[in-house]
Amino acid sequence: MRTISVRAHGKVNLHLGVGDAREDGYHELVTVFQSLSLSDVVTLEIDDEETVATGSIVSGLTATGLDAASVPQDATNLAWRGVDTLVDFYRARHGLGSLPRVRIRIEKGIPTAGGMAGGSADAAAALLAAHILVTETMPALDQTTLDALAAELGSDVPFTLRGGTMLGTGRGEQLTPMLSRGRYHWALVFSKQGLATPEVFGHLDQLRDQGREIGPSLDTTDLAHALMTGNAEEVAGHLANDLQAPAVSLRSDIARTLDLGKQAGALAGIVSGSGPTCAFLCRSELHARDVLDDLLSEGVYSGATATGPAHGAYLIDG
Ligand code: ATP
Repeated sequence: MRTISVRAHGKVNLHLGVGDAREDGYHELVTVFQSLSLSDVVTLEIDDEETVATGSIVSGLTATGLDAASVPQDATNLAWRGVDTLVDFYRARHGLGSLPRVRIRIEKGIPTAGGMAGGSADAAAALLAAHILVTETMPALDQTTLDALAAELGSDVPFTLRGGTMLGTGRGEQLTPMLSRGRYHWALVFSKQGLATPEVFGHLDQLRDQGREIGPSLDTTDLAHALMTGNAEEVAGHLANDLQAPAVSLRSDIARTLDLGKQAGALAGIVSGSGPTCAFLCRSELHARDVLDDLLSEGVYSGATATGPAHGAYLIDG
């Protein structure tokens, strides 16, 4: 049996401005993504002995590693959906014939339901792995088409496919690369219990309806300038997240973690995306390790250090 393995990275939002809910239920976003060194690996185990002409080519899925117990192992898994989306597109548009049956293996290093786009990274990795498999016999898709398929899978999937530092608008799927100098060092604190992204957006709407003034933080100019300096202290002064207030309101442990990070000497702390992961920007790798050690000694659930920006999804084997 042969394999194709693709790595994809998690993200933190340096800026997450949330506008009004649109007619389609999504909120209008202005966000700055930075991909982080934390990553998952999606492997297609290819059985060339058995071919499939209709229906899903995926026969099963297993996940191991961080939070693996919370990862669905059926066709609802975003990696499974990534393979199906790519194959269905080729069948509809390019008359794709039969393909070998595959099993999906996911090694998780990104927390699940942690606001770090773990599922989205797996969708991007699976889309790319399936594209590599299909283009053994078919012409390749251009980047715009791959991005459009990624956006069908989820708002964060195009970014996890591309990586780096990007401005995201629309529901976060319309991407513009941003200039960013240097490397940024983070201490991350994970939670035992995840937070569902729609719940956090819904709670933001509720808080706003009750009169709480939360953003919308739609101007990224200062952050863009700070990123060009490559100075973490400058960047630390311009982190913003409109989902932080609702995430903290839903989960009191987040406020405590953010306080502890400040006391531990982090340059700044922010809820990552819809949370509950908290991300602390630090001066250096050593500083990030010190901050994390401090937080762990205060009894936070678990954590890791990470650097950014990292890459998008890329082939590591196969
Ligand atoms: P985002 O930051 O993009 O809002 P998140 O990091 O908060 O997302 P995910 O880890 O992407 O959340 O998972 C959200 C939900 O998606 C999980 O609770 C899980 O049920 C489901 N899911 C589907 N596929 C996967 C996958 N491959 N890995 C993790 N979760 C998955």
